[in-house]
Amino acid sequence: MVKAAVEELNPFKIAQKQLDEAAEILGLDEPTHAMLREPMRELHVLIPVRMDDGHVEVFKGFRVQYNDARGPCKGGIRFHPQETIDTVRALAAWMTWKTAIVDLPYGGGKGGVVCNPKEMSERELEQLARGYIRALGEFIGPEKDIPAPDVYTTPQIMAWMMDEFSKLRGYNTPGVITGKPVPLGGSLGRDDATARGGIYCVREAAKYLGLDLSKATVAVQGYGNAGSFAAILSKKIFGSKIVAVSDSQGGVYSERGLDPYRLLEHKKETGTVADFPNSERITNEELLELDVTVLWPAALENVITKENAGRIKAKIIAEAANGPTTPEADEILHEKGVFVIPDFLCNAGGVTVSYFEWVQNVSGYYWPLEEVHQKLDAKMTKAFQEVIGMFEKKRVHMRLAAYLVAVQRVAEAMKLRGWV
Ligand code: GLU
Repeated sequence: MVKAAVEELNPFKIAQKQLDEAAEILGLDEPTHAMLREPMRELHVLIPVRMDDGHVEVFKGFRVQYNDARGPCKGGIRFHPQETIDTVRALAAWMTWKTAIVDLPYGGGKGGVVCNPKEMSERELEQLARGYIRALGEFIGPEKDIPAPDVYTTPQIMAWMMDEFSKLRGYNTPGVITGKPVPLGGSLGRDDATARGGIYCVREAAKYLGLDLSKATVAVQGYGNAGSFAAILSKKIFGSKIVAVSDSQGGVYSERGLDPYRLLEHKKETGTVADFPNSERITNEELLELDVTVLWPAALENVITKENAGRIKAKIIAEAANGPTTPEADEILHEKGVFVIPDFLCNAGGVTVSYFEWVQNVSGYYWPLEEVHQKLDAKMTKAFQEVIGMFEKKRVHMRLAAYLVAVQRVAEAMKLRGWV
């Protein structure tokens, strides 16, 4: 009996497969391809934390520096119970393509700690955040590797981390980390930057496809930082109707539309959007298959796979999450004519404003919000147009088009440095 091939869901294997395809089309030479297939460096650490009940818990942490040919490594830190080194490697690879696609003078990196922040007290989280930075020590730094928030890490956690690093150095070093609270050198506009960057991409995509976003319906999977702001800005900037949102505990649907601010308040109060009043309950799986104009996967990896891709009805998929779509699903969506704004383009607004934050930190001069928005719009629109240019030239799917642009830039930097 012939067994149906099992879909590959290891994020790092997926990231390598995506690169391999791009490498072939670009005709990358062997050493260049080999340098881009694996991280250049990675650090594995153990972080002992004395918990509130007195026992010591030992946490595992990682920091992966994928490639720094274009500049210091850059990328967030994820606190998640299911974190693995391969997830961090994949996310670090995607950061490398992300900083390249928006043309920031950075490489790519990522960090992770295996823990469940939802079950930890504020004091325990602070000890973990500080312990992680002590363990990384001089592996990171404003000229070397600059972390930021990611899933389940917050501006407060960035503040503790920056403080710990500053203590190690002996002087205030705000440029070591981005996504800090504004009073500690955070940038105005960093809070909604990931979603806002995606919103600018959706605006450009709608122009390209001839869609009127004031009549659009929107579904958002994941109601964290990126997802909640995606809903808020879709309504505020375009006048679109938010018909469904979800989080890890389930989702809600309303044909008449949901108020994204009220949803956020409700989630703050109850911990979930799932029991929001005057709406119907739906599952995360159902939400992904709704007949909407714009679908925002804004949670974790591998939610659009070969199993459900054929049933997706959205016109545009705006990937606020990292790695939500598998390579098999990409092919199916492309054949169906679903317009995918790939993750490392769609969610690059976060790292772009992180870059603005770092520039402000190292120059010691701070910008007004309008300037941040203007500069973000310019970066995102340019990147989107460059990817569309490649999409039309090569007639490949949007993710591959984005890879072709980004990988070429990193390869060129390595060549100019004389590495390959
Ligand atoms: N964690 C975010 C991302 O995946 C932001 C990274 C950053 O700001 O450095 O893009």
